[in-house]
Amino acid sequence: MKAASFDYVRAETVSHALELLNQYGGDAKLIAGGQSLVPMMAMRLVRPAVLVDIHRLQELKTASIRDGSVITGAAVRQRTLEDDTDLRARLPLIAQALRWVGHEQTRNRGTVGGSLAHADPSAELPLVTQILGATLHLLSKKGGKRSVSAADFFLGPMFTAIAETECLTAIEWPVWEARGTGSAFDETAIRHGDFAMASAAAQVQIDPAGLCLRASVGAGGVDGVPLSFPQLAQRLVGTRLDDCLVREVATDAAAACDPGGDMHADADFRRHLVSVLVARVLRQATLAANLSLRSV
Ligand SMILES: Cc1cc2nc3c(=O)[nH]c(=O)nc-3n(C[C@H](O)[C@H](O)[C@H](O)COP(=O)(O)OP(=O)(O)OC[C@H]3O[C@@H](n4cnc5c(N)ncnc54)[C@H](O)[C@@H]3O)c2cc1C
Repeated sequence: MKAASFDYVRAETVSHALELLNQYGGDAKLIAGGQSLVPMMAMRLVRPAVLVDIHRLQELKTASIRDGSVITGAAVRQRTLEDDTDLRARLPLIAQALRWVGHEQTRNRGTVGGSLAHADPSAELPLVTQILGATLHLLSKKGGKRSVSAADFFLGPMFTAIAETECLTAIEWPVWEARGTGSAFDETAIRHGDFAMASAAAQVQIDPAGLCLRASVGAGGVDGVPLSFPQLAQRLVGTRLDDCLVREVATDAAAACDPGGDMHADADFRRHLVSVLVARVLRQATLAANLSLRSV
């Protein structure tokens, strides 16, 4: 099928894009990399009257490192983040997740903000925002700036806190102390590059004695939104992350999910995947944390 007809405007600045969103209200849609929007339009699942192209706006492509956080513009390409060695050192979980996002070709065009705004429950980057406790910065002509925590951003499948006239401008990712911190991302899909049947991510920080100081763990593709499990993560704090506890946490994580089923995997199988993947990422994150204690 082909997309219904639409007008196209290339925004000159972020203010211009906001002006257009304000002018057309719900009839306009921002287009960044087009990797999700164009297929949705081709299937006529969405029919915007006007596309406002923000892909080339340098204002949305900046990346800055501050004490304790990294701020990336919404239109930064996924591939740019994946290849950024400074960022990989500070936020390895982003690069670990990105290698599962589609294919090199889609990551060459797809943007970080586009993935978050699209909010597919199986998408990798939304899960990373939950694990790291990211903050999403939004801007509109009439409402000005506002910031939303990742926990409040995802409202349902392909449904976020972004209003019709708002643009996601930047994402602020908290950075944990490098020493003693490790992270891991894993998923199961029919083929590499397909959306995950289930995914899991974890980040832990341990002290030189091997005691867990901080932990964050979650799962994707098994509910309407990416899930983080703060209470389960809290159970790990102060422990040596031994395998018995890790398996217990993974089993409870699986029980906390509410997956749907399809021709590839029913709900029980997806829950089983969560129990396996959560245990695996916790073990891998712990290993990475131990290695970092020896190398930093
Ligand atoms: C073959 C294929 C495989 C894929 N596999 C995966 C996968 O495994 N995992 C995965 O996560 N994704 C996958 N994708 C989706 C995709 O590659 C992107 O990760 C992402 O979903 C879209 O980013 P984009 O910049 O192309 O956004 P676009 O397609 O341009 O936009 C997507 C949506 O976000 C909105 N939007 C974009 N930018 C902003 C902004 N700054 N503010 C407000 N709203 C905005 C748009 O209006 C639109 O509704 C796949 C795509 C293809 C074609």
